[in-house]
Amino acid sequence: MSKRIKIFLLAIIYTLTSLSIFSVQASKVTYSKTLEQIYKSKDVYTETQKRLTEFNKNYSNITYLFSAGKSVQKRDLSVIKIGSGSKKIFINAAHHPREYIGTILTLNQIQNLLEAYASNGSIDGQKVRNLLDNQVTFYFMPLVNPDGVQICVSGSPSYYFNANKVDLNHNYDALWFKKITSTYSTGTKVFSEPETQAVRDLCLNIEFDLTLAYHAAGNIIYWYFGQEGADRTRDLTYANMLKTTTGYSLVSPSNYKSSTSGFKDWCVQKLKIPSFTLEVGGKRGITKPVEWSYYSTIWNENKLIPVRIAKQLMTQAKFNSDKKTSLIYKSNLFREGQIISLDGKQYIAEKDVTLLAGKISDSQKEKLNLTEIYINKIPYINLETLAECLKLNFKFEKSSNTVYIS
Ligand SMILES: [Zn+2]
Repeated sequence: MSKRIKIFLLAIIYTLTSLSIFSVQASKVTYSKTLEQIYKSKDVYTETQKRLTEFNKNYSNITYLFSAGKSVQKRDLSVIKIGSGSKKIFINAAHHPREYIGTILTLNQIQNLLEAYASNGSIDGQKVRNLLDNQVTFYFMPLVNPDGVQICVSGSPSYYFNANKVDLNHNYDALWFKKITSTYSTGTKVFSEPETQAVRDLCLNIEFDLTLAYHAAGNIIYWYFGQEGADRTRDLTYANMLKTTTGYSLVSPSNYKSSTSGFKDWCVQKLKIPSFTLEVGGKRGITKPVEWSYYSTIWNENKLIPVRIAKQLMTQAKFNSDKKTSLIYKSNLFREGQIISLDGKQYIAEKDVTLLAGKISDSQKEKLNLTEIYINKIPYINLETLAECLKLNFKFEKSSNTVYIS
């Protein structure tokens, strides 16, 4: 082959490759229905399923669509997983049928993340590819109660239960009590319903780091269910971020026992993870689906929420991460303690360093003190500096996440 032909062929290949890359990034995915059409449809379940399938087909490199179980009437409880980061966030909607504006909102959040990923864009200054490839994984369940939503859109707009007439958000194991009347039902027992069982099992299997449930209406945020100390501080920090982002108000922690056995209550009390209920849509106390005219406001208030949560989770995670970092040592100076990695440096809790007294000179102590940091109010010292002071060899092996000291 002559050199000129080779160059020509290479040029063609290059052009084709760049064109195809270009077309993947630039082509706008089209959907069979708009979000408004889905909201106003008489078959919200099928339309939601369709949209999730479309997401999964068009962005198959970062999505995985699966069913977490079946509803009473054997509809799929679909979950779409987005990303491959180690921190896991679960966002769900429509425990209560007439509040299914949350279904539309979560579909929109999913779409926003996927489009930003495909175009290598940012949301809230955060590169979405970096976020989803390296940091977090989102699990969205837009329809926790598909049967109820179908009943709601088929002529019973105030419908609030599942097909067994149970209020799903009073069926979780968190100060549950049995109460069944014509207008109120917590179920015959804790987790009596297939929908709450599916959500429970998903949470137990995936081990989410944070969960969020969308409800309507009232522009308020529930965040408290008896957590104390560091957990309370942590969750209040998230709650304040949610408040700043949406403009909604925090529900006061006092009197939290007046409403129990909700999804958020269970996550907080039993799973000990941050969990929030957001009631979107202005009018509090409405007993029908939020009017569509509210939607653009709701979207503006909530479009940054997934990324904001992820960002805060990563900040939090920095402090609690690398529980798996091992310490391999050949001296009796340390006992096995939790090593944490922060900004590429390894730290060990001061309390986990033994026999230090008498071994380190005052000037060395000063040097060590300079490296001291406080995480959750506990002092940690830099392991490398410590090894240096003790004239030990320090080696951190990134691939196995192991510190060797000899
Ligand atoms: Zn609700």
